[in-house]
Amino acid sequence: MKIEEELRIKGKVIPHKPMRELTSLRIGGTADFFVIPEDLEDLKKVLTFCRKEGLPMFIIGNGTKLLVRDEGFRGVVIKLGRSFKKIESNGSKIKVGAGVDLSTLINFTVERSLSGLECLVGIPGTVGGAVVRNAGAFGECLSDKILSAKVITEDNGNLTFLRKEMKFGYRSSTFWENKNLVVIEVSLELTPGKKERILSRMKEAKRRKASTQPLSIPSAGCVFKNPPSFSAGFLIQQAGCAGMRIGDAEVSPQHSNFIVNRGKATAKDMLELIKEVQGRVKDKFGITLETELEII
Ligand SMILES: Cc1cc2nc3c(=O)[nH]c(=O)nc-3n(C[C@H](O)[C@H](O)[C@H](O)COP(=O)(O)OP(=O)(O)OC[C@H]3O[C@@H](n4cnc5c(N)ncnc54)[C@H](O)[C@@H]3O)c2cc1C
Repeated sequence: MKIEEELRIKGKVIPHKPMRELTSLRIGGTADFFVIPEDLEDLKKVLTFCRKEGLPMFIIGNGTKLLVRDEGFRGVVIKLGRSFKKIESNGSKIKVGAGVDLSTLINFTVERSLSGLECLVGIPGTVGGAVVRNAGAFGECLSDKILSAKVITEDNGNLTFLRKEMKFGYRSSTFWENKNLVVIEVSLELTPGKKERILSRMKEAKRRKASTQPLSIPSAGCVFKNPPSFSAGFLIQQAGCAGMRIGDAEVSPQHSNFIVNRGKATAKDMLELIKEVQGRVKDKFGITLETELEII
């Protein structure tokens, strides 16, 4: 029997989905199944089905922090559908679905003159992905504003984590450490502010990003974590790697911690280039760069 017939969900089930269509790097082989549960009932059905059948699963947001291997993913890739894309506000408190784009959330808060997320402008992920990877920029991160997060647990229960029950670190969180939890909704508390001031902070953050990052070429943002003493980009540049290329994968000359896809880069090209950069930085500085990018 086909998975579509077994599942009987309101959302979509797409077999053989090219992962390059789901990731900002535009790289990756096919996923056996791509499923978009439309609501909580659908999501629980999919999770139960995968667990019962022993199918590996992967929750994807906008795929902006991922490198999917050329062999693809032997399992089910799940992207939250329509009913996970709602936003509600109550004064300075916001309740937002994990499937909402961060940019949509930021626009929503600016409309209501709520300050606190403007530095995150230009981060192309979803709220779910931003919580899991604790997205941040210019010294601020999403976790600074989180009150609680609702998740679906391994046994399909609903659980709410309060702020004090969650751990956040550099591009990591409780949910990054426990990949069995699916984040479905987040509550935030922002600060009432002046719209012009919020817009001007956003404009400045956008300007700084546009002047330092190759935003028009496919990438997955920063590839390596910054080691404690120096920025990874600085070390990569000093090691002479800026502009280095394997196939169509290139260390961006504009921002050395971005590896961009110049057209037809494969995951193999990317991985070789990552290794080469790590090797050169290690030789020159004795520092091992760790990847921030998630490799699937
Ligand atoms: C041009 C560019 C600029 C960027 N700039 C920044 C920046 O300034 N700062 C920064 O921090 N990042 C930046 N990024 C990286 C990226 O956008 C962020 O890490 C973002 O938060 C990832 O969100 P996503 O929805 O794309 O997640 P994905 O890449 O799809 O997934 C990331 C991880 O989260 C998990 N996940 C996603 N949704 C859920 C969920 N609902 N429940 C459980 N797990 C889930 C996935 O399984 C995966 O492990 C940039 C990327 C690009 C391409």
